[in-house]
Amino acid sequence: MSAISVVNLTKRYGDHQALDGISLEVADGECVALLGPNGAGKTTATEILEGYRHADSGEARVLGVDPQNGDLAWRARLGIVLQTSRDLGDLTVREAVRHFARYYPSPRDPDEVIASVGLTEKTNARNDKLSGGQRRRLDVALGVIGSPDVLFLDEPTTGFDPEARREFWELIDALKAAGTTILLTTHYLEEAEHLAERVAVIASGRIIACDTPSKIGGRNSGEAIVSWVDEGGERSERTHSPTRLVNELASRFPGEIPDLTVRRPTLEDTYLALLDEHADNERNGAQS
Ligand code: ATP
Repeated sequence: MSAISVVNLTKRYGDHQALDGISLEVADGECVALLGPNGAGKTTATEILEGYRHADSGEARVLGVDPQNGDLAWRARLGIVLQTSRDLGDLTVREAVRHFARYYPSPRDPDEVIASVGLTEKTNARNDKLSGGQRRRLDVALGVIGSPDVLFLDEPTTGFDPEARREFWELIDALKAAGTTILLTTHYLEEAEHLAERVAVIASGRIIACDTPSKIGGRNSGEAIVSWVDEGGERSERTHSPTRLVNELASRFPGEIPDLTVRRPTLEDTYLALLDEHADNERNGAQS
């Protein structure tokens, strides 16, 4: 059984179709990243799965339960890091984490969780005195304190410095190793590539592509970009057979090929190409 199952989900706000028939299965223990431009429908889809919003039609199941009918025992198996931080009044970091631990039947050790998000030095600081990135780390601590089976992360690392982001990835890697199912929304493609087994690209309320980060959008079979420098300046060529081109270049230059690089499309290149293709299809559809 999938930990998360979504079939043909739709949601409309006034005359705006925010979700236009989304279907997605997330296997037990899998991490799937939702990618997509601002306003694509990622938060709407996630919040329906968390039971915070109603879908207009379609089917959603999380741990086998329709989120609209989830009871407290079901909710205790979820960890949620929303896009915006919760209001924690004047609680310190430790007070907040201990407070939230009480809601769960088998919480993790609060001090261990605080350490795992790198906030030990701020244990006694009031939450409203934390920096933006530190506050976000506290949100993550509150999301994982209950040892969730399914963890929803909506742009969890916004405001993190690069070191904090790496530390966060280690924390998520550890949760994955323990079998936690994760639905991650992020605008950081490197993060999706590092953490997710599959990525789903959402645009205009629809999933336009879903595959492993290395295969999505034909990335693994896409053209390589070979660049070098010759007397005419910087050169670059797209090719399906980079080895042949490099051999050709090697015979042209007496020694090393100047500034040679061979690059496969990054996840970002592929993601942007998918969105361009989607925009072209929408335009052509609108014209016909
Ligand atoms: P972002 O990357 O900016 O977080 P998103 O993909 O999460 O975007 P959503 O927040 O799901 O996008 O919003 C999808 C669309 O629905 C947007 O056009 C948004 O303006 C609209 N929308 C979201 N919530 C509401 C609401 N409560 N009322 C009306 N429109 C809404």
